[in-house]
This record gives sequence, C-alpha cells and structure tokens, in this order.
Amino acid sequence: MSQRVAHRICPLCEACCGLEIALDGDRVTSIRGHAEDVSSHGFICPKGAALGELHTDPDRLRAPMILRDGVHVAVTWDEAFAEIERRLPPLLAAHGPAAAAVVLGNPTAHKAGLLLYGARLTRALGTTNVFSASTLDQMPKQLAAGWMFGHWLSVAVPDIARTDLLVVLGANPLASNGSMWTVPDFRGKAKALQARGGRMIVIDPRRTETAALADEHHFIRPGGDAFLLLGLVHTLFAEQLVRLGRLAEHTDGLAAVVAAVADFAPEAVAARCGIAAATIRALARDLATTPRAALYGRIGTCTQEYGTLASWLVDVINVLTGHLDAPGGVMFPKAAAFAANTAGAPGRGKGVTTGRRRSRVSGAPEVFGELPMTCLAEEIETPGAGQVRVLFAIGTNPVLSAPNGPRIAAALAQLELMVSFDIYLNETSRHAHVILPSFSALADHHFDVAFPQLAWRNTVRHSSPLVPPPAGHPPEWEMLVRLIGIVRGRGAAVDVRALDDELTAEDVRRVAGPATEAILAASAHHTGPDRLFDLALRAGPYRLTLDQVRAAPAGLDLGELAPRIPEVLRTPSGKIELAPPLLIEDVARARADLARPVPDLVIIGRRQLRSNNSWMHNLPMLAKGAFRGTALVHPTDAARLGLRAGGRATITRAGHADRSIAVEVELSPDIMPGVVSLPHGWGHDLPGARLATAAKRPGANLNAILDDQLRDPLSGNAVLGGVAIEMRALA
Ligand code: SF4
Repeated sequence: MSQRVAHRICPLCEACCGLEIALDGDRVTSIRGHAEDVSSHGFICPKGAALGELHTDPDRLRAPMILRDGVHVAVTWDEAFAEIERRLPPLLAAHGPAAAAVVLGNPTAHKAGLLLYGARLTRALGTTNVFSASTLDQMPKQLAAGWMFGHWLSVAVPDIARTDLLVVLGANPLASNGSMWTVPDFRGKAKALQARGGRMIVIDPRRTETAALADEHHFIRPGGDAFLLLGLVHTLFAEQLVRLGRLAEHTDGLAAVVAAVADFAPEAVAARCGIAAATIRALARDLATTPRAALYGRIGTCTQEYGTLASWLVDVINVLTGHLDAPGGVMFPKAAAFAANTAGAPGRGKGVTTGRRRSRVSGAPEVFGELPMTCLAEEIETPGAGQVRVLFAIGTNPVLSAPNGPRIAAALAQLELMVSFDIYLNETSRHAHVILPSFSALADHHFDVAFPQLAWRNTVRHSSPLVPPPAGHPPEWEMLVRLIGIVRGRGAAVDVRALDDELTAEDVRRVAGPATEAILAASAHHTGPDRLFDLALRAGPYRLTLDQVRAAPAGLDLGELAPRIPEVLRTPSGKIELAPPLLIEDVARARADLARPVPDLVIIGRRQLRSNNSWMHNLPMLAKGAFRGTALVHPTDAARLGLRAGGRATITRAGHADRSIAVEVELSPDIMPGVVSLPHGWGHDLPGARLATAAKRPGANLNAILDDQLRDPLSGNAVLGGVAIEMRALA
C-alpha cells in the first residue's frame, strides 16, 4: 500500500483546524496539526486526532437502515429510497406541507452538503416547521446582532491578535477553541496576549480551564449576566466613560439606552449577579480606559432566560467603549463566500425581523426562519391541522441535546415517517424509519460555509477527499437531491445531476435574473456543492474561484480583520441600532426581576475538550481515562447535602419530583457555591441505540430534567443554565 501525507480541515468543531493526515493506503497512521495552515498554524485538539478512530469505528453505519418489526436492518440504497418514496408522498398529499418538519443538528453546520442541500429540501417540502440546535445555543447572539447590525451572521468577534484586554463572559474558549468565534489554539493566542502585557479576565460560575489561565476570574450567578452587563452600562454612563469615537455618526439609539439602564446601578444588580458593586465599577473602567479591549460573551450568556438581552448588552458595551469595529476590539470578519453582509448594497439593507409566523401550539415567534427546538415535541404530539407527522432529522440528537429529552423520544416514536441523516444508530435515530448515513469524513470534501464569517482572521480553504467513498455510497448532497426528487413527484430514481442543475439554476436566477446563464457558464466545470462553492467565491468580496482556493492546500490568507463600519451594516437606517425596541422593552422584564430570590442550588452545563455534545463518546481514544460526565459540586454544598466525592446522587428539578437523574459526584472548589455543573450530551443507556463504547459509561442525561417550557421569549432559545435543582445522596 502507498504511504502518503494529505491535508484536510477538521469537520468536528468551529475551530476548523487544518490537519495533516498520514495514510497507508486508506488507513490513517497519524493525524497532527498542519503547520502551514493559514488559520490554525499546526494546532490540533484530541478530537481532531481521533478522526482516524471515527473512520474505523465499527458502530459507524456503513449502509442505510430501515426499521422493520421494531429492529433496524441494513438495506441497499435503492431499498432505503424506495421505502421513503412509498411512505412520504401519501403523507404529504393527505396532510399538506405543514405535516413535515426538518430538524438540523450541530454537525450540519460543518458539512456543506447537508447545510446547502438541507435548505433546498426544506424549500422543496414547503414547510415552515424548521428546528435546529441554534435555539439550544446561539440564537440570542444572532438575533441581537441582526437587530443591531442588520444581518444574523454579522457577529463581531474579538481581534485577539491585537487586543490588550480580553473579557470573557460565560465562555470557555480554552476547551472550545471558540464558539461563534473561530479561534484555533486559543491558549496560544491568550498566552501571546499576556506575553505582550495584556490581560484576560474571565467571568463564569466555574473556574474553567480558560479562567485558570486568566489574570482575573470572578464567579457570577448563573443567569445573572444581563444584570452584570446592565450594571456595567450604567457605570459607563454614570462615570462619563462613554467614547463612541468614529462610531458616533453611525449609531442610533444612545438616549434610549441611557434611559433603559437608569435603575441598574452596580449596587442594584450586585446581589442578582453575585458580583460586588466595586468589582462591576472596576470592570467598566478597565473596559473603557484600555485602548484595545474586547468583551466576548457566549454560551452562558445565551442559554438563559435573558439570552438576547445579555447578547445585546455585550455589544452595547463594545460600542460605548469605542471597541466595536476597532483593531484590538471586536471586529467583523469578511468571508470569501456565502456572507450576506458582503452582498447587496453596502451600508444599508432590510435588517432582520422575527415573528413572521408563530408556532402552532405555543405561539412562539419564528426567529431566523426557525421555531424553538423546545416546541418540537408538542408540534408532534398535538392533534389538529398542521400536526407534524413526518420528520427529517439531519445530524441531530435532540433526545440527548434538547430539554425534556424523554418527552421528545416519546414524540418521535409516534411519527408516521422519520428519516435520519446520521452516522450512528443513536438515542434519536433509533426512532427513525429510515437512516441514511454519510460516509467517513475522510472521503468527503470540506468547505466552511459559516465559520469564516466568525473567524479570528480572514482566510479561505477547501479540502478534497482523502480516500474514495465506499462503492455505491452516495454523498449527502446526492441523498438530499433524491429526496427532493421524491417530494417533487419525480421519484427516487430521478436523474440526480439533472435535478441538481435545475436547482442551482433556480437559485442563481432568484438573485441574478437575466445574468444567470453567464454566471452558470463560468462554473460549469463543477457540479454539486463544488459548483455552489465556486459560484459563492466568484460573487464574494475577493472575487476568487474554487480552482484558486484548491491550488493552495494550506488555504489562502486574506489578511487580518479590518474595520467594516459602515459598509458591513444592513440595517434599514444604515446605522448601528443601539436600542432595538423589543430589547428596550425586555429591560423592563429584567427590572421587574431584579429582586427575585436566588435558589439554593442551580445547575449549569460544562464544555469539555474531549466531548462534542452527544456524539463523540463512542471513540475509545476520547472516552479513555477518568469518567468526565460527573456532577461538579462545591465542597461546602457537598457537606451541606451529605454528598461525597465519587459517590452517587440524584439531581431533581426543583418542584418536579418526577424529573430526576442519578449522577456521579465530583467535588471541586472551582465551582461556585450554590451551583452544580453537569455536561450535557450523556445518557447513552437507552434501548435500541448502538454505541458500544459510549454505553459502557453512559452518564446521565442533563436534558432529562431540564424544562422544555423555559425559553428566552425573544429568541426562543432554551434555558439550559441556572435552573433550580435539588440534590440528594444515593446509598
Ligand atoms: S479544535 Fe479539535 S475538534 Fe475542533 S477543529 Fe480543531 S482539531 Fe477539530
């Protein structure tokens, strides 16, 4: 067998590291970081190194599966699509497009075939029932950014290479290497910041890995972020620290913000956020007086009842301190392709709106074309017109990753057709009537559609397949085109290439009109997703082609982040909207909530380097060592509750005796007293799943006790942290 070294982008997380993979034939012999990669410069984490194990994992599905008599059996591709063709059209004919729903999981964002063609399937179905992991994660940030800057992906990220003060709120980038911020080797960049005399401050209910590296760490009460941030904004105005600088002429709404924060002096918010008034004032002064400073808030600021409010306030502070769109502050990347904030007329646009429709059962407003994931179960369970009967689950495992997983599992079991795109028979896909697995990532190409829009530096990269796909195994985009063929009445045997040509022409015609033929002709030597990459690169701000990008195996460096205001704005006013009306209204909700008593014990999640939500627990290389799905408890709480290190305990949702899980206790002074931390994505002990390694130490499903009725009313995001619990020792 021939030995060779090849390169590809890691498809597992937002860091998008470039990997150098040594192969002997089709066998991976080693994986390390690609030193020449223009974005990650040789960084790799243990998950990337485990891609070889993922390639050979015996539990990874190699063939489609059909549920027959309660058991999943492997079938041919034609049999799988025939089964869908037998069941789907009659259901759509009888109940209409509203009977179908699409659920998109986190891996979809990393797989261009699923992302681009999944959207086409949704359009073909004609359904507005779209749910995704976004409402379990970052939707508040996207909504706040949309209202302020005019587009859902106009999210400003810290310019870490030049900042002198990085304040991290509710995030653990040392474990994640960025979230809504592609920043591979965060540790190296944070250390470089410190080496040049800069500082990092972390505010988190846990002394995280990032906090351990920081110059300062402050505990904060889970759910207290919006109150801390309101106190910071109040201080900036009270102490006349506001400096808009060149943003002044591009900003509307300053007076409304001044009025909104009037009641939130540091003394008023200190108890609610658990941070002393003097500390809040000092932090505001630090942010305002450090010439190059960046405030970054993430998952903890989003997955709470004030998620959008907190996400908005982070950027209000960046604007008020003159750090937005400034080198060393927070800046807007300029991606080479697919970025809506580089399309259309610069400096002005339609902005974003929400609530164009509401969910059928709870009346939750649509946000970014989606309904809250927490509404999924009720939309399946509740009879009546529009009841969801058909579900396409694309790279998603909501039974473990969404609140009230047991209810979701029960709802999935009553679907009339469920099709899962998944590489595992897992806790969710076990309910599917048909499972369509993708082939190994090593056989797939890779182009990041979303993450260059959030990256620490402007780059563009493409990876070609390293090994051939198994004979007859179609790529994901072809599977989706076949499904579209079924939906459009052309059958599972549709000519995939011809239908793809039609779909692409339809998409281009929508934006290009009479120029369509000329545009398509330029990319005619590409097909499938490659053609979409080429079209997007040609239309992008650097006017590149896919051939140019492919010719650079380490990627093309497009330069450091540069100021983009006003060009990046797509608000109707052409200004930064500092005071979106619904957010100003939401401040009143927070005001009314200022004096709410703090529960004795609340729960939060925990990001871990060797885990990726629910789906990397089956790889021995990552699963080895001490069990990580433990409940972290502060020793004073443990003493009060009679818990001991290594012992077992129940965690029960306060006031819901029937919502209980059993966990292993780990004592740690690094967790704030009154807070328990349990990572989500565990609970691999459900019947019907096939995850041999994960099942050996299944852990407990945090989402089994979380509430699917608790969400941020603006974004629809689930409340995953700060939920009151009770804890009792088990014998
Ligand atoms: S941080 Fe790890 S999992 Fe994420 S892209 Fe890099 S190597 Fe892959």
